[in-house]
Amino acid sequence: MIYCRKMISCHDCRYYEVGEFAMKPNEINIRTTSAGSEPTMTSAGTRILKRRKNNLFRSIGILMTVGFGLIFLINWYRSLPQGMDCQRMTQRIATAIEDYRIAHGKLPQILGFLDIRKGRYSIDHYEYWFEGLGGPGTLPQGTLVGYCKKPHQPVFSDPWRSIIVFMDGAIVVRRVSESEFQTKISRQLSPEKYWNFP
Ligand SMILES: [Zn+2]
Repeated sequence: MIYCRKMISCHDCRYYEVGEFAMKPNEINIRTTSAGSEPTMTSAGTRILKRRKNNLFRSIGILMTVGFGLIFLINWYRSLPQGMDCQRMTQRIATAIEDYRIAHGKLPQILGFLDIRKGRYSIDHYEYWFEGLGGPGTLPQGTLVGYCKKPHQPVFSDPWRSIIVFMDGAIVVRRVSESEFQTKISRQLSPEKYWNFP
């Protein structure tokens, strides 16, 4: 019976391990071949290889979990300021439309005419065509005037959009879920209900 005597890293010895997988001398059971010179792998060696394999899979699993967790966290963190910036910009646009409406008695033809301070999002982030082109200054309650072209997609909550609507005699901003937005826009696009939009 032979075994490695020193606790050193030895790349030439198949039966020697250091650190977590260090083999104790009584775990090493090395048989010799019939030739008497070349040792063969025993159950202890097989066990170590199996443990190494399991450890490798565990490490890969941990890395993947941490990686996905980080991606999730970054997306969630980014969605917060994005939402606030969109709401801020929507409010600026709504204020500019409202100022124009009060001054001219009608809605502006395009948003490009308005003096809107730039932010993270430009006016291209929004769709504005329902009541544009110089629409009337007074609209039915709840009329959709503008909205985010694409829904925002937060990680932990439902998609949403900022909308600009005519409510209680003024242009105001609301934040609605994507499903609520789709309901509103489909009703507004319906010709027979166009002027009875609730
Ligand atoms: Zn938006």
